[in-house]
Amino acid sequence: MIKGVGPQRAELLSKRGIHTLEDLLTYLPFRYEDRIHFSNVKDIQPNGIYTLRVQVMSGQAVRTMRGRDAIFHLLVRDATGQLPCKFFHGGYLEGRLKPGQTLILHGKAEIDKLRPARIEMVNPQMEMTSDEMDSTEVGRIVPVYEAIGTFGSRAIRRAIYSALDLLDPNMPDVLPAELRARLSYPSRREALIHTHFPPANESLDALNTFRSAAQQRLIFEEFFLYQLSLGLDRKTSRKENAIAFRLREDNIREALKRILPFKPTVAQKRVLAEIAADLEKPAPMNRLLQGDVGSGKTIIALQAAVIAIENGLQAALMAPTEILAVQHYLAAKRILAPAGYRVELLISGLKFRDKTAVLESIRTGEAKLVIGTHALIEDKVEFARLGFVAVDEQHRFGVLQRKRLMDKSLAHGHAPHVLVLTATPIPRTLSLTLYGDLDVSIIDELPPGRTPIETRMTTQPHLRGVWEFVRREVNAGHQAYIVYPVIEESKLELKAAIEEFERLSREVFPKLKLGLLHGRLSSDEKETVMQQFRKNEVQILVATTVVEVGVDVPNATVMVIEHAERFGLSQLHQLRGRIGRGAAKSHCILMAPPYMTEEARARLETMVRTDNGFEIADTALLLRGPGEFCGTRQSGDMGFHIANPLRDRELLELARREAFALADDPERAAELRTVLRSLPEHWQRRYHLARIG
Ligand code: ADP
Ligand code: MG
Repeated sequence: MIKGVGPQRAELLSKRGIHTLEDLLTYLPFRYEDRIHFSNVKDIQPNGIYTLRVQVMSGQAVRTMRGRDAIFHLLVRDATGQLPCKFFHGGYLEGRLKPGQTLILHGKAEIDKLRPARIEMVNPQMEMTSDEMDSTEVGRIVPVYEAIGTFGSRAIRRAIYSALDLLDPNMPDVLPAELRARLSYPSRREALIHTHFPPANESLDALNTFRSAAQQRLIFEEFFLYQLSLGLDRKTSRKENAIAFRLREDNIREALKRILPFKPTVAQKRVLAEIAADLEKPAPMNRLLQGDVGSGKTIIALQAAVIAIENGLQAALMAPTEILAVQHYLAAKRILAPAGYRVELLISGLKFRDKTAVLESIRTGEAKLVIGTHALIEDKVEFARLGFVAVDEQHRFGVLQRKRLMDKSLAHGHAPHVLVLTATPIPRTLSLTLYGDLDVSIIDELPPGRTPIETRMTTQPHLRGVWEFVRREVNAGHQAYIVYPVIEESKLELKAAIEEFERLSREVFPKLKLGLLHGRLSSDEKETVMQQFRKNEVQILVATTVVEVGVDVPNATVMVIEHAERFGLSQLHQLRGRIGRGAAKSHCILMAPPYMTEEARARLETMVRTDNGFEIADTALLLRGPGEFCGTRQSGDMGFHIANPLRDRELLELARREAFALADDPERAAELRTVLRSLPEHWQRRYHLARIG
């Protein structure tokens, strides 16, 4: 039993993919605070970042004009002086802080804009603490975790503290001893302990940039195991054959032309030619298709699928969310069904009977194109003859899932051709290291007839004008998205979004039809709302970030993003990509509070300045430091738990060298076997232990 984790918190954790002790212990702090040496209030300078241990003097919430939001004014002191603090959207603090109570505050000191003689803290991070010295809270370097729903940093810290106690002192170490010694890495157990609760003499700076020996070891290990799988695959896949497709025959060219609903762009034609050249070879294609949001990647995947089908094989398309899978399914049916290809949908939300029928048609080979979520990689899905796999929006997937889908056709003695679709521009050198021998095709052109999206940033007081604008656009026949920052789909955030939806329907747009879309709805409910939105029966879709990826409704021309300051740049770019998909001019309105951190402001200004995905990705890299996490673990975007390929590139390259050396050296076969044997279960599946022996 882990202290402080009851059934409710266990559920929160499991929603976040944390099921085991191992999962919990690899949920790492994103920041560390020095709580041995607190700063004194009297020493605070504008623009400095401080950790303070203070007592509450007084607190008061002041409502803003429409009563939606409140600013909480808090006055605190330590032995050396007093400090005012402001919390925007701080209404929730009312009544929760008692005079005399001890708090730990962490944040940046700023000059009070109204009274320039005064220094204050705006929205500092706050932890309520007891007065006693508690070994997990003060008197040490303290880890700060990203909250998981209502499971806050302090409670997570306690749970992990007690979980670390459960570690077996003799736990096996996946890294070979020789390698560990050569790189001066601590044991796995020590690395875990010191990453969560660093020794007092560890450099705070090293910790906050993920460069302490303990953190580096854990990052290295994750890369190492992954690179080892690439290294081993490389050895086996050289022997693996794929089916060389015929595609010069007239009937295939005809089929490809017949399905095209529009004239492809030059870039789309070029990319299809690159793919076709791969498909003609008897070696498996392994290609990344990069193209900004809206550049038209889907049709390319469908064309490649048609080539496979015309060659007598099945094709699969895997999408990261059910909404996206359903959308692809509808589009694919519209485009492919007239040509007589049977398209099936496989998502976990299917009724048992439907699912059985779908599985059967996949097994017999009647289903020509199967579209689905990760449900596609479950063990019970058996393809008759899988020849082509497309994976959409790769960054949402672990590299792991892609691999498992590929393995599905290995059973039949050939490897499928694989195409990965992504809107995330990954630097070429990085993608090589990450994906191994991967070829890259780029769509660098948007379909014709698009007018650039106009993006502006505005503040709450202008909300009325924004709603007026939305109303005008809808009355002109268009549709709109209003997006709320429910990033973790936590109960509180979700409640706010639902209340806002009801308020908008009742008070702001009583004459219009609004729909609500969020992650907690069932598949059926989600699909119903999306269907209504596609048919323009719903004119305004109030949504959480579930609309972030791939949703395609060209008639939608307005997107209002509330609390845009809470989203990361790439997320904002993805969201905005939902509009500007038709010929009519589209508008994106970023709502933000008057005060925000400089990084948040820089992000929003970048969005206003450019809609170029590559430029946005570059800026995101520059801005991304500790504190730029915005509710999602960025590194998770690429399928790693701990490591971040962008931040930790040097370790990635080191891990690749070491892993490939181990995989290639026959003299180290015994060592390799030991590593493979002590792999956690989820890694083992990938390595085909049986094959390597
Ligand atoms: P993404 O690359 O973001 O996945 P999609 O494949 O969803 O983009 O395409 C975006 C929209 O552009 C879709 O509505 C699609 O039908 C349309 N589209 C794609 N290619 C073309 C083209 N060559 N001409 C006209 N419309 C196109
Ligand atoms: Mg897409």
